[in-house]
Amino acid sequence: MHIISSAAEMQRIALDCKRSSKLIGVVPTMGYLHAGHASLIRAAHEECDIVITTIFVNPLQFAPTEDLSRYPRDLARDTAIASEAGTDMLFTPTVEEMYTPDFAVNISIGGVTAPFEGEFRPTHFDGVATVVAKLFLLTQPDIAFFGQKDYQQCMVVQKMVRDLAFPLEVRICPTLREHDGLAMSSRNVYLSAEDRINALVLHKALQEAQRLVESGERTRSRIEDLMKSIVVSMSIPHLRVDYIVAADAQTLEQPDVFAETQEIVLLLALRLGSTRLIDNMVVRAV
Ligand code: AMP
Repeated sequence: MHIISSAAEMQRIALDCKRSSKLIGVVPTMGYLHAGHASLIRAAHEECDIVITTIFVNPLQFAPTEDLSRYPRDLARDTAIASEAGTDMLFTPTVEEMYTPDFAVNISIGGVTAPFEGEFRPTHFDGVATVVAKLFLLTQPDIAFFGQKDYQQCMVVQKMVRDLAFPLEVRICPTLREHDGLAMSSRNVYLSAEDRINALVLHKALQEAQRLVESGERTRSRIEDLMKSIVVSMSIPHLRVDYIVAADAQTLEQPDVFAETQEIVLLLALRLGSTRLIDNMVVRAV
């Protein structure tokens, strides 16, 4: 596996691969890799000739109050995981390499960025869109792989790719979970032993709501109230609910009653102490 930290070198190599008609798969990450990231890399390895995994903790997508400075990092471990999963090139630029002091671009996407995550992290998706666009230009993917774990992020990237006509496909890969259902996340290392147990409430609420929808419930407030009651019933200390919602899986609109066969996304964002966790599930109304 080739490790590249220069943006110019990355772009030169990627353009060379393109000229020789190699199908390039790109997996953007912020590092501290886990099996969820590895599953994206494996999916890319199955479909593409060259897999580029990027590791960049992007300051633009963190608000000043967020966890940028303490975001976990372990390049040696990441290198082993990325290589084992089938990465051909690991792109690990520094902040200075990605953003010169006079960097002045901001990509801002409307619509899908507004609700939920957008409400609680107002500058987050601008940072995501800006860095993903730059990573696309540096790595020249034919296919870019993202995890459903970050549902709204997937929608934002898909919207940017469509609206700006990036010549690539976006693949959304399923969320990998720990044996007990907790969605894998680099941020799970922040959890105390007690919070690690309490964090199971996200998956539990999603599963119960899935059962409710599959039993025929289509009224949004009833679906959301069930998830909220499960979260409240755990009496978790230091819990803050950012949102617990059901929405149309394609538009994120929130009708009072979902239509028969409508695809619904169930979305949760909770803070356990200083750790913010998100999870989601897509279910079809009956
Ligand atoms: P991150 O390093 O957290 O920015 O994530 C990099 C990519 O991995 C994103 O596309 C995430 O959605 C994806 N990802 C994160 N956690 C998981 C997971 N548990 N299962 C599958 N993909 C994931």
